[in-house]
Amino acid sequence: GAKELGSNSMLFYRPEMHTRSGERFAIGSALKNALGANEFFLVYQPQFRAGAQRPVGVEALLRWRHNGEVITPDRFIPLSEEKGLIVEVGEWVLRTACTQGRLWHEQGFSDLRVAVNLSARQFRERTLVPMIYEVLEETGFPPAALEIEITESLTLSNANSAPNILGALKEMGVGIAIDDFGTGYSSLACLGRYPIDTLKIDLSFVQAIGRDPRVEAIICAIVAMAGTLGIALVAEGVETEAQRDFLLGRGCDVIQGYLVGKPMLPQEFDAHFASGLLPH
Ligand code: C2E
Ligand code: MG
Ligand code: MG
Ligand code: MG
Repeated sequence: GAKELGSNSMLFYRPEMHTRSGERFAIGSALKNALGANEFFLVYQPQFRAGAQRPVGVEALLRWRHNGEVITPDRFIPLSEEKGLIVEVGEWVLRTACTQGRLWHEQGFSDLRVAVNLSARQFRERTLVPMIYEVLEETGFPPAALEIEITESLTLSNANSAPNILGALKEMGVGIAIDDFGTGYSSLACLGRYPIDTLKIDLSFVQAIGRDPRVEAIICAIVAMAGTLGIALVAEGVETEAQRDFLLGRGCDVIQGYLVGKPMLPQEFDAHFASGLLPH
């Protein structure tokens, strides 16, 4: 709005500005109804261990089907957070992902891990831990197969409650992953303070492979450090064979990215991988 642009911004008024705040408004009111209107759905992006045909895990990613268009989270998560809608939506995401995960376990993907993203706003809800407990109990999905993805900035903005919440999740047996690792301001502090199971190497690092030797050196340092601390690694945003080979060669053994699998609907996932469950 005009405020963020400074007091002279009206001098530079362009029609797009109006359109943009108009879109924001329209999206805001449509978002409120999206859950009830059944417009949300999840896609699942597979994660692979080196050389394996079957995924070791999936990350659940939220999508919004609205007016015949599929909208990605960048366009509605920030607004959902502002409006507090993310709390209810986040619970829906968790329940849907755990229900699907349970189904996959029953179909023979017996140790498939399911990763779910958590927003900072959800972290501030007192009911977060009981909510997760309840969803696991209701869906029958094993806590050890669930991984909660949080960011470094989330732990920073919730420094008081983070130790208790993460401790409680750990006690439940739920895994904790740091998403977009290395892009925040507290990467190392985070590792010293919290019971982290997995680091997800941010795609901006992965995309620098073959281009920036300094970033490559940072990746190597992350791999070494994770090894010493007994923390698992997942590289995200792997698009090329060169990136994959570099990562596998340096000891990052789980890969996620368009090269090995796009985010997909459950039926697409089944078509890709369920046949691998049958002996041929
Ligand atoms: P993220 O958790 O870091 O998820 C990874 C993002 O990278 C996803 O974007 C995924 O589609 C994309 N991606 C995967 N492989 C590649 C690749 O090879 N190349 C490139 N360029 N991109 C790749 P998406 O689905 O648009 O999600 C964006 C962000 O929205 C996520 O980033 C996550 O922070 C957030 N998000 C998604 N689902 C949820 C949710 O259910 N709850 C919350 N709170 N946040 C969510
Ligand atoms: Mg994530
Ligand atoms: Mg990420
Ligand atoms: Mg990201």
